[in-house]
Amino acid sequence: MILRYRFFIIDLLRLAGSLNFSRVFNYLRMRWGLLLSNITGKVKVYGGPFSVSTEVASVCNLRCPECRVGQGLTRRSRPFMDRQTLKTILDAHRKHAFYANLYFQGEPMLNVQLAELIGIAKKKRYYTSISTNGQFLNQESCASLVNSGLDRIIISLDGLSEKSYLQYRKGGSFQRVLKGIEFLNLARKTLKKNNPLIVIQVLVNRHNEEEIPAVRNLAGKLGADLVQLKSMQVYNKENAGELLPQNSKYNRYQRKEKNRQNGLKSGRKKACYRLWSHAVYTSDAILVPCCYDKLPEFPLSEEGSFVERENWFSPEMYAFRERVMQRREKTGICCNCAL
Ligand code: SF4
Repeated sequence: MILRYRFFIIDLLRLAGSLNFSRVFNYLRMRWGLLLSNITGKVKVYGGPFSVSTEVASVCNLRCPECRVGQGLTRRSRPFMDRQTLKTILDAHRKHAFYANLYFQGEPMLNVQLAELIGIAKKKRYYTSISTNGQFLNQESCASLVNSGLDRIIISLDGLSEKSYLQYRKGGSFQRVLKGIEFLNLARKTLKKNNPLIVIQVLVNRHNEEEIPAVRNLAGKLGADLVQLKSMQVYNKENAGELLPQNSKYNRYQRKEKNRQNGLKSGRKKACYRLWSHAVYTSDAILVPCCYDKLPEFPLSEEGSFVERENWFSPEMYAFRERVMQRREKTGICCNCAL
């Protein structure tokens, strides 16, 4: 839901500013390959990804119960991505990609070089985005994010009170997120900048589903530009009853099966859009098929060999696309995916 159209339109213009002929041409080629794959049932890839996700930090300060990082299950040889690694990845993709997510798993604001990393992506004319739990947004960090040129920030605000918020964001502080949003809005005003677009994300669960209209109002008062809702994914069956919302429109699972295989609502196309359009790299620079491969279970490159364009067109990546086309319900990471 858009709260402030002015900032939303300026953001669209910033996104348009990251385009050039080769990036647009690649996007069309990528879509053409995806379309043909859906028609023929055979994998056809004619373009690179338009979006690149780089995990600048793979650790987190919170312990959310359904997060792989919060559960201590993710495996990385390096917890933070450094400048040189980011540069190399973004250089490898800069001719075709224009959207850089500087996050994957973990809390990006734990990387002390975050502002510099954003600056590197901006120099290469990427549209930049981060997603944060909002616990580190203070006067100083907000000014630094605004000055870095960051285009979009997604801040998790999962409730209307400390009580509902803490049902999921274990170890966090609701008040700190509220203050953080205000600081960021103030930093934009003080520095006379229009960036970043402030997006509030509500992970809808049983404890906050009734609060959504009120969270929207609150976000507007704090100076946010957009509110988006995200449905919960649940790995632990015991948590399903406790966490999944009652209202089926907020629930990615069918009511009677609630989670795991075949429990997802149906209607998905054969070819998975993400496998044609998004490249995702862990903090130790390993390409994974998509943002649902959090551990990772299906690494598609060796550590240190991530720059080659061949990874995107490799037999392993083709085989994975084919596997998802033919046996999506038997591919572990897809069982919780709402795409
Ligand atoms: S989890 Fe499976 S269906 Fe979802 S984005 Fe990844 S590959 Fe595609």
